Amino acid sequence: MKVNDPNMKTAYIAVGSNLGDKLNNCFKAIGLADKISGCSVEKKSGFYRTEPVGVEDQDWYVNAVISMRTGIQARDLLKGLLAIEAGMGRIRDKKWESRPIDLDILLFGQDVINEKDLTIPHPRMHLRRFVLVPMAELVPDLIHPVLNETMAELLDGISGEGQMVIPLVEV
Ligand code: ADP
Ligand code: MG
Repeated sequence: MKVNDPNMKTAYIAVGSNLGDKLNNCFKAIGLADKISGCSVEKKSGFYRTEPVGVEDQDWYVNAVISMRTGIQARDLLKGLLAIEAGMGRIRDKKWESRPIDLDILLFGQDVINEKDLTIPHPRMHLRRFVLVPMAELVPDLIHPVLNETMAELLDGISGEGQMVIPLVEV
């Protein structure tokens, strides 16, 4: 299937790492995502250092979001992303519970999916600055298909309390 096929959808993926060489882990995962059959990475947000949310005693994360053009089903994209997580987790360090990479499907076109192992839009994306800051950078006017607000509006509506998100300047 060609990448510019009109049947293809645009998916948004959250990329995060808080273990090992975090920025490099994100780059590597994005490179591997581009190789998933029937998919190609289209755009990348900037990278951010972000405060861990909901857990104490964790290192800060590096986060970004990417858009992908995809001609495969959402559950097959999830399979591909989970395979990347598993592959990178094994390579980095077997002992660690936390993985060097987390890849979440935020949006899949305007689809709404509520299955046992797959919820789209991602159920917590509208609460998380580490998702909404890069999404508002990449696609400020994109509408959340359930909440019916744009990424910029969703970001405006949440508190920054305990959710520092700092642009990562590469040196
Ligand atoms: P989190 O990303 O919330 O920290 P995990 O990455 O450990 O948690 O969760 C992985 C599981 O979440 C996957 O096995 C998958 O079945 C499920 N899941 C449900 N909806 C999604 C989604 N939109 N994107 C990614 N994983 C999802
Ligand atoms: Mg995940």
